[in-house]
Order: sequence, then structure tokens, then C-alpha cells
Amino acid sequence: MDKTELRIREKRIGPVLGRHPWVFSGAIAEIPDGMEPGEPVTLKSESGRYLASGYFNSYSQIAVRIWSHDEHERIDREFFVRRILNAMELRRLLVGDNTNAYRVINGESDLLPGLIVDRYDRWLTVQFHNRAIERWKDIIVESLIEALAPEGIYERSELASRRREGGTDSSGLLWGKVPEVVEIIESGLSFRVDMAGGQKTGFFLDQRDKRRALTKYAKGARVLNCFSYTGGFSVYALMGGAKHVTNVDSSAGALTLARENAELNGFAAEASEYITTDAKQYLWNLKPDMFDVIVLDPPAFIKDRRKKNEGIRGYRAINEAAIRALPTGGRLLTCSCSAHLTAQDFRHLLSESGGAAGRTLQIVESFGHGPDHPVLVPYTEGEYLKCLMVSVLE
Ligand code: SAH
Repeated sequence: MDKTELRIREKRIGPVLGRHPWVFSGAIAEIPDGMEPGEPVTLKSESGRYLASGYFNSYSQIAVRIWSHDEHERIDREFFVRRILNAMELRRLLVGDNTNAYRVINGESDLLPGLIVDRYDRWLTVQFHNRAIERWKDIIVESLIEALAPEGIYERSELASRRREGGTDSSGLLWGKVPEVVEIIESGLSFRVDMAGGQKTGFFLDQRDKRRALTKYAKGARVLNCFSYTGGFSVYALMGGAKHVTNVDSSAGALTLARENAELNGFAAEASEYITTDAKQYLWNLKPDMFDVIVLDPPAFIKDRRKKNEGIRGYRAINEAAIRALPTGGRLLTCSCSAHLTAQDFRHLLSESGGAAGRTLQIVESFGHGPDHPVLVPYTEGEYLKCLMVSVLE
């Protein structure tokens, strides 16, 4: 396919040279009429020097997303297969033999902007994050089949990013067969995943390293897992020797799977409890010293930059309530997946929560996404998850 050439304004060339994967429409000198969404483009400087190749999106301010910085790289099926195999090579190093569920393609950061692919054993879920990448859907599905030989591919493009572009959600079977519930193995533990109906793509793969970390602090502990979803943190806590785990989530369906997941791994039913309720209320009504370890992994409280302060108040409140309820020597694993909240913001609000509760907090471990969610160095927009393991010192 011939590529349309776009010139980048001299004043706006910095991020492109710095290998940021996005180009805003204002950085492009002139956009010819009649360009199609998804159309492949070549970016050049005003003087005509090759800069990068990518695809055009008429529905977004992000007019071009970058695929390559190699002038001779053709965007065809071989290109997609090559990118997928490269990404897989990294995952093979990372996940180990006792895990068969992980993110294979992390969009921009794996040089396949707009595309997310998660592997759940022999099945894949795919998300097309914008309307322009849709044009490449067939070739991407063919490339995934060639590179990864899955038994089925399921689409879960239910995304605000598409709706913001005036698009609609798209989900359903794309290829092959996908069972209603898939059983995956993570760190040697088994989990049931609802690929079609679960949240996001079915399982929070980005929390694997935090789940593993939690086991160290769980021995003999009474654990509260707030916003537990299907009990990922709970099963790891039980593996780490927790005395008892309380799961709290507003979704009864998620808690049913949480119960099944604890049973699947052979943990005694008496060791777990499941409470379907609003976790904010639950936390606020907690009595002191009921739990030794609390996990807070809420959904993004800041979905819109303009409502950042409101979101921060929400985070402050749940963290304060959890800190108040913990005994001295207790531990809190606290997370935020709001992309609009920086690591610094998060630390600051947590120090306010500690202060309001009259407690001294010590950071023991600090995390971002798991390593199967790598990020390009200049692409700070691709970072969203921040988690801290803190001890209550006094
Ligand atoms: N920690 C989980 C992922 C949590 S996702 C894991 O590792 O798998 C966030 C969860 O919060 C979802 O399960 C959602 O149902 C739940 N949730 C959202 N709002 C809630 C609320 N107000 N009270 C309780 N749970 C809530």
C-alpha cells in the first residue's frame, strides 16, 4: 500500500525525534483532503527528511500513531507477525513456566499502537483502542493466528477511547472457539477467567507482580481484599499462609468466581469470606484491629482529567479508612490505576491519608505495571498503575 506523506512542522518535531509514539494534528503542516482513517502514512520533516511511519486517524486529535522508524519497513502481514514474535520473545523471558496468562502486546509500547492482546492459555483477547486501527483488523487477526497459533480469539473493544471518537463498542468471537470460562495458571495457581463477560479482558494481568509480592506479608495474617474482583490477591495471600481472607466487591458475579478460585486451589472454605457491598462504605465502618493486611485496588477514580480533585478525595478517603483500621505493624497494599494521577500525586495523597489517620507510614515496596506491560521511555501517557506496599510503623 502506498503511503501518504505528511510533513511535521519544524517547531513540533521534538517529540517525533524523541520517539514519542503519538503525533497531534497540530504538529502536521497540512493534512490532504480525503484521507481515510487507518491509512498508512510517512512522516517527514519540512525539509523532506524521513522521520517515521504510522497510521492516520481522522477521528482523533492524535492524528498519527507510529509503527516504525525504519523507512524501508513495509506495513504488511510480515510486519505484524514480526512485531508479535518480538513481543512474545520478551514475554517468554518474563513469565516463567508456571504462568500461561499474560499481556502479549501492549499497544504503543510494543510498536503496535492501538492494539492490546492478552493471552489466556490457548486463547487470546484483543482490543482495538481506536477507530482507525479497525481498518487493520483482518490482517492483525491473521497475523496473530500465524504467530501464536491460538485456538480462539475474542474481541473486547469496550473502550471509552473509542466512544470519545464517536465510535461504538465491539465485542465477540473473532476467530476459532473460546470456552465460556477459561482456566489459566498464574504462578502455579489456577484461576477461572470469563474472557467474554469479565472486566477489562477478563483478568487483571497487570497485578501479577503485586500479587506475588503480597505472599511475603501474608503468613498468619487476617487479610482484607477490597475491590477483590475474582480474588486474585486473595488466592495468593492464602498461598502465602494467610489465616483468613475477606473479599469485598460490589459485583456478586466477580465474588462467585473468587469463591471458585479459592476452592480450585484447594484452600479451606472457612479461610475465606465474600461480601457483596460498596467497599467505600465497608471501609468507613471498619472496626480497628480486624485485619493485619489490607489490599486496596479500586477501579480508576479519575476517569476525566477535569475531575482529578474529586478522584483524589476518593483515594484519600479509602486510604485513610484503611490506615485507621490497621494495627501498628499492619500493612497496606494500595493501588491506583488512574492514568491522570502521577506517582508523586499518589504518594502525596497517601501521606495526607496517613496524617489524617494520625499514623506513620513506611514505604516497603513500590510497583508500576507488571513487566509484561512495558512502556516506551518517552510515552508517559502509557503509564497508569501505581502501587505501594506500606507498613504502619506507629
Ligand atoms: N484486585 C483485582 C482487580 C480489581 S478491579 C485483581 O487483582 O484481580 C476493581 C474491582 O472493584 C472490580 O471488581 C469492581 O467490581 C469493583 N468495584 C468497583 N466499584 C466498587 C465499589 N464501590 N465497591 C466495591 N467494589 C467496587
